[in-house]
Amino acid sequence: MGTIFTQIVEGEIPARIVYEDETTVAFLDANPLAPGHTLVIPKAEYERLNDVPDDVATDLYATIHRMVPAVEEAVDADASTVAFNNGEEAGQEVPHVHCHIVPRFEGDGGGPIHGVAGEAPDLADDELDDIAADIESRI
Ligand code: 5GP
Repeated sequence: MGTIFTQIVEGEIPARIVYEDETTVAFLDANPLAPGHTLVIPKAEYERLNDVPDDVATDLYATIHRMVPAVEEAVDADASTVAFNNGEEAGQEVPHVHCHIVPRFEGDGGGPIHGVAGEAPDLADDELDDIAADIESRI
């Protein structure tokens, strides 16, 4: 049996699907953080962004790009937070990659994405240089 999201893709469990194409689907989150909270997923099951092949990643981003203005306009949002919990330690509960589009409203009491990590590290310039070089070398 696949993930709960694969079951949605297969029509085995109901969901409020708002967009679907050959490789991606968008549907309302069952426990919305705000009206219009939408999830965008690849139909195929990949646990993390790191596992998504290039062509599917392109399709996934194209769908996110289309969905963000549609979601914001539908609920008259002022803004949105668009994010992935990429891995269990980052808070991912469903092991099927998904992008959250959370509509945001002035004075909604929420915060920016800067609040998701723990205490900010105090990194020296040479440490930042090493990290930047290491990342660059892996691309
Ligand atoms: P995660 O913590 O993995 O990033 O987020 C998983 C999200 O999936 C949660 O916001 C949760 O409310 C949503 N979710 C879990 N099960 C279902 C489901 O069966 N249907 C829908 N539409 N959303 C679900």
